[in-house]
Amino acid sequence: MIQRIGVIGAGQMGGGIAHVCALKGLQVKLLDVNQLALEKALDALNVNMDRQIGRGLIKPDDKDAALRRIQIGTDYALLGDCDLVIEAATENEAVKREIFKKVCPLVPPTTLLATNTSSISVTRLASTTDRPGKFMGMHFMNPVPMMRLVELIRGIATEEETFRAIRDLTIRLDKTPANAEDFPAFIVNRILLPMINEAVYALYEGVGTVESIDTAMKLGANHPMGPLELADFIGLDTCLSVMQVLYEGLADSKYRPCPLLVKYVEAGWIGRKVKRGFYDYSGERPVPTR
Ligand code: NAD
Repeated sequence: MIQRIGVIGAGQMGGGIAHVCALKGLQVKLLDVNQLALEKALDALNVNMDRQIGRGLIKPDDKDAALRRIQIGTDYALLGDCDLVIEAATENEAVKREIFKKVCPLVPPTTLLATNTSSISVTRLASTTDRPGKFMGMHFMNPVPMMRLVELIRGIATEEETFRAIRDLTIRLDKTPANAEDFPAFIVNRILLPMINEAVYALYEGVGTVESIDTAMKLGANHPMGPLELADFIGLDTCLSVMQVLYEGLADSKYRPCPLLVKYVEAGWIGRKVKRGFYDYSGERPVPTR
């Protein structure tokens, strides 16, 4: 049974994965190239667990025990005794390939590998490792502690035993698995990201303002968040990468990323994580940037 988990990348997803795994009693090694990202992840974990205590979902003792189970570091040697390593680093294939190249020689041959990629081919990432049979996609949703779904994606070489171990872990984490085939962006993002991209086109073409587009979709389609607010929440860099993968992977012009989305990313206005995207988050209330 999986007991020790390595998480690579301490951004919004890696921090969230560490959070749920530690609360469920697993030992967690959280690794990032950036020490500051690790410290920020621990701060966010603290705040988010306090919120769960406030809502009566966990007890203060659960939080203390969970935090004791998390070890952080920038040295890949930290991952040496992990049963499973989940990669949740930046959505960039070259970065992910480099990470698996470093991890493989450091972990035992029995260690399973998973990627939290939103869109990149699991089969292709698996082929860069020394164990494609022990590799699969484990796609958590954001924010991880609140969202119930985990998409499970088998690469062409994934062994049944690997799939079963990761599906059992998903259920132990109190999440619901949904199986997706290994095609660009799997299920959720194949459907969600073209909708977000279309909302950016609507803004680009002047069909509506940031506010009217989000209000229209919240009240007209009963979505809990408007598509532009959701794009900021996901991260515009991640949204753009997913659209590029869909565009290139399916070779269909209907997936072309909106030039305005590209411009926001070029400006570094990539959403909530930098306090600016389609909204400015530096004040008390988000203010539209267009
Ligand atoms: P993020 O930008 O918040 O965090 C990425 C982290 O990876 C950063 O802290 C960065 O320092 C670290 N990193 C970069 N290169 C590294 C390396 N070589 N070794 C170790 N760490 C490295 O991004 P995120 O939103 O947490 O997304 C991470 C992954 O999860 C991506 O693959 C993304 O597609 C996927 N994902 C994102 C969402 C979402 O809504 N944001 C949802 C599901 C899946």
